Amino acid sequence: MKKIGLYIHVPFCVRKCYYCDFVSFPHHGDKVRAYLAGLERELELYHHLLTTVKISTIYLGGGTPSCLSPAELAVLFALLDRHIKREHCLEMTMECNPGTISRAKLQAMKAVGVNRVSLGVQALQDEHLARLGRTHKLAEVYQSYEMIRRAGFKNVNIDLMFALPYQTLKEWETTLTGIMDLEPEHISLYNLVFEKGTQFYHWQRDKRLPPIDEELDLAMYQLALDLLPLAGYRQYEISSFAPRGLECRHNLTYWYNEPYLGLGPGAHSSSGKVRWANAGSLEEYLAALQGGRKPVVEREELSVELQRAETIILGLRLKEGLGRQSFRERFQGDICSIYAKSMAKLQGQGLLKVTPRRVSLTAKGLLFANQVFLEFLPG
Ligand code: SF4
Repeated sequence: MKKIGLYIHVPFCVRKCYYCDFVSFPHHGDKVRAYLAGLERELELYHHLLTTVKISTIYLGGGTPSCLSPAELAVLFALLDRHIKREHCLEMTMECNPGTISRAKLQAMKAVGVNRVSLGVQALQDEHLARLGRTHKLAEVYQSYEMIRRAGFKNVNIDLMFALPYQTLKEWETTLTGIMDLEPEHISLYNLVFEKGTQFYHWQRDKRLPPIDEELDLAMYQLALDLLPLAGYRQYEISSFAPRGLECRHNLTYWYNEPYLGLGPGAHSSSGKVRWANAGSLEEYLAALQGGRKPVVEREELSVELQRAETIILGLRLKEGLGRQSFRERFQGDICSIYAKSMAKLQGQGLLKVTPRRVSLTAKGLLFANQVFLEFLPG
């Protein structure tokens, strides 16, 4: 039986953060009800697949799933109970934001099988949180974290962001050490990107925000690489740190380029050979489902070249890199022969390390990963 990761997108937030380009809408009771009805139809349309695969991980992401009311969460969890077999599920994560959880919600999460909580902290300074348009304050970070622990969750990830406007290296250090003191099981960190269409993108274009200082951005990343291992957080992926055995299994599905199914507005899916995406507009998503159709708006059959490139790019995100044997088995050829020229160039630049078993980024390659990835994309 095939193994897949299941992602469910819950596209509601208290309000939109200024830098956000995810599919998310302000929480509104009628819209949530319509979404939940749509999601049930989508689950029914995937009934055959969902009952003939092993679901090894489930990830409830968003949006902010925890901003649903207890009654709305009860409906969502009842859907999971009715439609998703969880006997093979090793990890079930739910994304939460500080200030949007309660004891009742956490208990309901436990009851449905959530065993990993991902908390979107981002920064430990009220000034930065406000500038990002986040709805929480520092005090709520600590309150929510404590509530999660009290509810008995033993696997918690904290999401952080760096290279924020006006953020100093010292402030970033304070955030990192403050989070390390909390001792979550996993830490993820991302540098701020001014994505097109976001409020931040317009503000930067209008010079209301300073451009990203690339040197400082690199220095902040380097600081995380230096500090986190001191507290036992092993970097196992470009943005992910955890002691051995506490890696995010769901995200490993993506990095190993294994199949996953995404449900909900804007969710993406991949079988490895074909990938598809749902409509990001709630109206379009619901209209398709009301008409009895899957809400898929993009579908792409991947050429072998693209499958290979994606497997390499995703695999190189991992610190251990890509196994040459598994690559050979999947693509009937050795990575070092197929990409001889690019590999020689990247090795010469000190960005790539090649051993008889694996290909991985060097310490320098980690800092310039995007440059490495470009080399593998079909021309
Ligand atoms: S909480 Fe997350 S998904 Fe929601 S608006 Fe902010 S960044 Fe976007």
